[in-house]
Amino acid sequence: MKALIVIDYTIDFVVGKLPCGEPAIAIEERMAELTEQYVQQADFVVMAVDLHHEDDVNHPESRLFPPHNVQGTDGRKLYGKLNEVYEKYRQAIYWMDKTRYSAFCGTDLELQLRARGITEIHLIGVCTDICVLHTAVEAYNKGFKIVIHEDAVASFNEAAHQIALEHFTNVLGAEVVRQNRGEQQ
Ligand code: ZN
Repeated sequence: MKALIVIDYTIDFVVGKLPCGEPAIAIEERMAELTEQYVQQADFVVMAVDLHHEDDVNHPESRLFPPHNVQGTDGRKLYGKLNEVYEKYRQAIYWMDKTRYSAFCGTDLELQLRARGITEIHLIGVCTDICVLHTAVEAYNKGFKIVIHEDAVASFNEAAHQIALEHFTNVLGAEVVRQNRGEQQ
């Protein structure tokens, strides 16, 4: 059984308050395409979305980053075509608020995966070297097989993006895949 976990592809993380910018915009099409495909084919699709509260001085990120993904703001909406796919299939997608980099931290993600007998998780979204990486590390520790879609992860930091891709393969034993050129329309 496999699940797709879509990480933090919100307006704030693509073009808003804490933007990845161009590399994140460039994966918009593939994010939407893979999510739609997995809604049909996978056993579970999760939209894991960072959640912050205004002026939360106790949150560790408040010392590291400007406010982002604040509850009730437009910045927390999914970006572009992914939002269209979400609106179309929202009954079939599990929306999950998260408050730390890893989608497992402080959430019921592991329970939801185990309840469905899922052993393989596919990760897409942003940033490759922050929330995607931290989620992958925790998935590794919990014994899940991990697949990273290289053409649907992005970071504002190209060097860190590359290091994370190597880490997925060499340290977490993940499979890093991308759409074959021949399959592209
Ligand atoms: Zn955050």
